[in-house]
This record gives sequence, structure tokens and C-alpha cells, in this order.
Amino acid sequence: MTQDIVIAGSGFAGMWAAISAARAIALADREADVRVTIVSPSPNLAIRPRLYEANLDDMNPDIAPLLAAVGVRHVAGVIESIDAEWRRLIVAGTDGVRTVMSYDKFVLAAGSQLFQPPIPGLADHAFNVDQFAEARRLGAHLESLADRRDTTARNTVVIAGGGFTGIETAAEMPERLRAILGDQAAIRVVVVEQAPHIGPDLGANPRPVIEEALAECGVEIITGAAVTAIDADSVTLSSGERIATSTVIWTAGARANPLAAQLAGEKDRFGRVAGDAYLRAPDGDIFVTGDVVRAATDDAGNVAAMSCQHAMSLGRVAGHNAAAELVGLPLHPYSQPRYVTCLDIGPWGALFTEGWDREVRLTRETGKAVKREINTRWIYPPAADRDAAFAIAAPDHVIVAA
Ligand SMILES: Cc1cc2nc3c(=O)[nH]c(=O)nc-3n(C[C@H](O)[C@H](O)[C@H](O)COP(=O)(O)OP(=O)(O)OC[C@H]3O[C@@H](n4cnc5c(N)ncnc54)[C@H](O)[C@@H]3O)c2cc1C
Repeated sequence: MTQDIVIAGSGFAGMWAAISAARAIALADREADVRVTIVSPSPNLAIRPRLYEANLDDMNPDIAPLLAAVGVRHVAGVIESIDAEWRRLIVAGTDGVRTVMSYDKFVLAAGSQLFQPPIPGLADHAFNVDQFAEARRLGAHLESLADRRDTTARNTVVIAGGGFTGIETAAEMPERLRAILGDQAAIRVVVVEQAPHIGPDLGANPRPVIEEALAECGVEIITGAAVTAIDADSVTLSSGERIATSTVIWTAGARANPLAAQLAGEKDRFGRVAGDAYLRAPDGDIFVTGDVVRAATDDAGNVAAMSCQHAMSLGRVAGHNAAAELVGLPLHPYSQPRYVTCLDIGPWGALFTEGWDREVRLTRETGKAVKREINTRWIYPPAADRDAAFAIAAPDHVIVAA
């Protein structure tokens, strides 16, 4: 009888989980009776780490040929509910039909969503760069500014949130606005961060570099103030300040996909499920990976970030282990002791750091060369070639940057 591994999501974690599971099944010579299926809205990999960029071409590559090459089936739809006891999923197909899908092993790789607290006007007036469709909506809005009257609100962009995404989005914005509004427009780009410092989660080491780089890009920083209301022409801060703007970009962090809440066990403050050393969820026969899992990266107490860097390794491990349990291969514990960050800071360049204390290693153009390599090569899907994909899908495969 055929056994089924079902994977929710075709993002970084889901795609690599599928390839890694297919590899393990092939190693055990069980391709005839173990099947891998991805369920996601479409067989595309959204390159979320680049959605702050102006040009969105090639940010949503088609992975159907790759999945076909490694023998993975794709079902177009979203998983609505998980029945762990009966090992069944309710799938809403993109054709509008609801079906029940059974599994022997389930891998939850449904990623994360933008955190949007109930701030007045946020849902109606703010833009974001969290998903492909939202990044396109922002791009279309920015283009449309050229048809508006030359006002302070038109010329001002406020980025709410001064974390990783906020910094990357802001640094690109002066050039982006100039390309649309012309060199003579009195453009203003402001990052508003409620913590006392820019990049609060990035720590103290890179901060002076970030501050200098943003200043050089022409970006203002307001710290210690939260956005409290947004309307079509302005944003209001907790300090009482009101900034005239037609464009507020909300970047205040991510939360795990709500499907995670359907699984047993404690969730962390991001809504992630605690995975064991093999990325198993507390419910039997379910693995959690990518942005929906809280997993230790090493013995020093560090935990995977909601990042593409971690999602690609977490995916490989979860996919391998889901298949390994079915075909009798050894399970592989997750570990990812090396951690780097590479922050794009617009025309200034990029900031490359190493370790959880984020020691600055490369800046400006040398950092940018690494960022280009990561953003145009490392995070993209492999070619639709079974052997080539399997060669980099082992659960201990290490992705090396710089
Ligand atoms: C603007 C931005 C910049 C970033 N920059 C960086 C960076 O520089 N470096 C870095 O490492 N990380 C970065 N990240 C984070 C990174 O993109 C995420 O951590 C990564 O995408 C997580 O991978 P994932 O596979 O877990 O989830 P995702 O990539 O979000 O994929 C989730 C998949 O699940 C599917 N899905 C969702 N709901 C369902 C459902 N109910 N049923 C079935 N399928 C479902 C989605 O369609 C998608 O295919 C950035 C993110 C953003 C938004």
C-alpha cells in the first residue's frame, strides 16, 4: 500500500523538505510505495527576502519542473485544518473544492505572516512587503504617486518598524522615490522604531554602521516612538507627532502561520511550535519546520530565527526525518551552529555579520557582493535535475555564505 508524506507549503522549508524526503525515499529504494505531495496555493517559491526591492521580476519562480524532476506531486490549495488523531487534513483547493487528504507523515511548512496589531487605519492604509502580492501593491502605489499633486504627503514615505525588513526597505526608498518623482522632488524617508535604538534585535555591534549607512542613504530615524494611527494622508506617533504621508510601510515582525495553533503543545511568542531534536511536533507523525518551528540551533541556547537561512536547513532535516521514519533510515538531529546576517543597506552597500553577537565582518561594496550572491544564487531553487537537487538536499548539507 502506498504511504503518503504531505507537506504544507512550497516556501524555502517546504521545497527543501520535499526534495530531502524524495532523496531519502530514493536512497531506501522505496519510490514505488512512498509518495511525497506538497500542498500550497501554487508551485512557486516566493523569494520573500527580496520583496523590499523595486524590481520584482523573478521573485516568484515556478518550481513545478523541479518538483516533477524529483518525483514530488503538487496539489494547488491551502490546508485549512489538521486532524492529528486521524491523520487527516482538510484542503481547500484553488478550484473551490474542499477535500480530505490522509497522511502517514505530515510536515507543516506553512511559513509566517506579517504581525498586524489592531492599530487604527493599519489594515486600510498601510502597505507592506511581506508577501509577493503585497509587494506588488506597494510598487503600483509608489508608481501612482507620480500622478499626484506635489505635496509633502506625496513625497514622504514612513517605514513603521526599524528591524531587518524596515532597514532594507527604507534604504532603497530614496532612490526608488527619485526614480518615480524626479530628482527635484523634496522627498523624505523616515523609519519609526518604538525601541530606543534602530535594529533592536540586531544588537549593539552593527548599530553604529547601520546608523551611518542610513544617514548616507538619506533616511531619517525616529526611535522611542510607536505608530498609533494611520490614515490616507498621515501617520500619528505615540509622541504626539503627526507626519504627513501617503505611504506608510508596516514592517513590524512576523508570526507563525495560524495552522501552528492547531497543533498540541506550548507556542512561543511568535506562535511557533516547539520541535524536538528531529523537528517532530508534540502530535505524532507531524514535523514542524521553517518559520513555524521553534528549534535549538546549537547547545549554547540559540534558537533558529524566522529566516530563510534557517528555513532551508530546517526544511532539509524535517523532510528527511519524515521520510526516514517511514523507510527505516536513521533520523538526523537538527543543528546549525553557524549564523550570519547580511543586511542590504541600499546604495551604501551591505553589512555582513557573523555569530549571534553579529560581529561586523564586511561592509559597503564587499558586503554587497555577498548579499548579491545570497540573493541571486543561494536562496533560489536548484535546477530541475534530480541528481543535482539530491546532491544538495542531504539533512547535513551546509550552506556557506562568504
Ligand atoms: C521583506 C523580507 C525580507 C527578509 N529578509 C530575509 C533575509 O535577508 N534573510 C533571511 O534569512 N530571511 C529573510 N526573511 C525571512 C524569510 O523570508 C522567511 O523566514 C522564510 O521565507 C521562511 O521560509 P518558510 O518556508 O518557513 O515560509 P515561507 O517562505 O513563508 O513559505 C510558506 C509557504 O506556505 C504556503 N502556505 C501558507 N499557508 C498555507 C496553508 N494554509 N496551506 C498550504 N500552504 C500554505 C505559502 O504559500 C508558501 O508557499 C525576510 C522576509 C521578508 C518578508
